[in-house]
Amino acid sequence: MILFQSTSDLRSYISEQKAKNLRIGFVPTMGALHAGHLSLIKIARQKCDLVVCSIFVNPTQFNVASDLETYPRPLSNDIRLLSEGFCDVLFNPSVDEVYGNDFTKDSSDDYGSFIHLLEGASRPGHFDGVITVVKKLFLLVQPDEVFFGQKDYQQCLVIQTLIERNFPFINFNLCPIARENNGLAMSSRNVRLSKEEFELASDLFKNLTHILTNWKENAWLDALLEARTFLSKKPFELEYLEVCDQFTLEPLKAFKPNAIALVAVQLGKTRLIDNLLLKPTL
Ligand code: AMP
Repeated sequence: MILFQSTSDLRSYISEQKAKNLRIGFVPTMGALHAGHLSLIKIARQKCDLVVCSIFVNPTQFNVASDLETYPRPLSNDIRLLSEGFCDVLFNPSVDEVYGNDFTKDSSDDYGSFIHLLEGASRPGHFDGVITVVKKLFLLVQPDEVFFGQKDYQQCLVIQTLIERNFPFINFNLCPIARENNGLAMSSRNVRLSKEEFELASDLFKNLTHILTNWKENAWLDALLEARTFLSKKPFELEYLEVCDQFTLEPLKAFKPNAIALVAVQLGKTRLIDNLLLKPTL
């Protein structure tokens, strides 16, 4: 695996690879890699000739300073995992290399009303920071295929909109959520959970599954309310649990066959999100 820290070095390397007509796959991350990230690399490996991963903890997408400061950064372990996972290129730039002195953010305001719901409401400015950095990275890496996890479902809708508008030649890949044995969605922030919290956190997936099991016209609403009541009890602080349209993210007023349940809670010092696509089971 080749490691780049400078944008100009990466730019010239990418030009050389483009000249060879290689299909470039790109997996942007913030590091502290786990099996979820590595599953994205694996899918990219199957579809592309050259797999590029970035590790960059993007300051403009954090809206809580302490979250940015304490974000885990186990770089040497990440490098080992990526090499073992057959990643070809790691781009790990400094903040200065990406932003220089200009921290102006792009605006996602006109991306559609979904931008202001759920994570958009809970984390003001977050998606502006995401599109700012992803745009810079796409321009640099010039990928043919990009790979994002369904774990951050709303982010996937944001990136799909960015691609439609600015990068129509990039193919977007939505990758499944990797979970711990107890159902908890893997996340870099899970290292902050105590052993007890880790076990409790499995209640998120259990309650999403309860909604899926009752995904029928006259049962879903009761299941949603039951799940909300469950997750409103301590030690969870429920931010949202909604069943939404898969594209607009508007909360459903009436049953429709395809939807998505999305949840965010605070558990101790850790914020957790998860989701489950809902379609009728036979
Ligand atoms: P992050 O490092 O948290 O910014 O995540 C980088 C990429 O990995 C994003 O596309 C995430 O959606 C994806 N990702 C994070 N956790 C998981 C998971 N448990 N399963 C699959 N993909 C994930």
